[in-house]
Amino acid sequence: MNGNEFRTTEPHLLRAPLLACPRCESTELTPVTDDALVNFYCTQCARCWHVELGAVWRVDPNTCAKCGHYETCVAAYWADHATDIESAP
Ligand SMILES: [Zn+2]
Ligand SMILES: [Zn+2]
Repeated sequence: MNGNEFRTTEPHLLRAPLLACPRCESTELTPVTDDALVNFYCTQCARCWHVELGAVWRVDPNTCAKCGHYETCVAAYWADHATDIESAP
């Protein structure tokens, strides 16, 4: 009956470095861990974010395939980049 799996020996804790979605400002963020990586999946706009060293950027769907929401993540990612692809020569 040990519900606390955080290691107190870790140099830093990845609790909630991302308080709101940078895109839709939703606070409905779900942390998804993949080994050492911690991504934050926004349940509102289905976008994945990665926080590291105080910076946040969009997660490439190919790198967060283990998040458990690969299809929605890819769909949202391509939707955002559709205009860039269409304008490419
Ligand atoms: Zn969002
Ligand atoms: Zn994802």
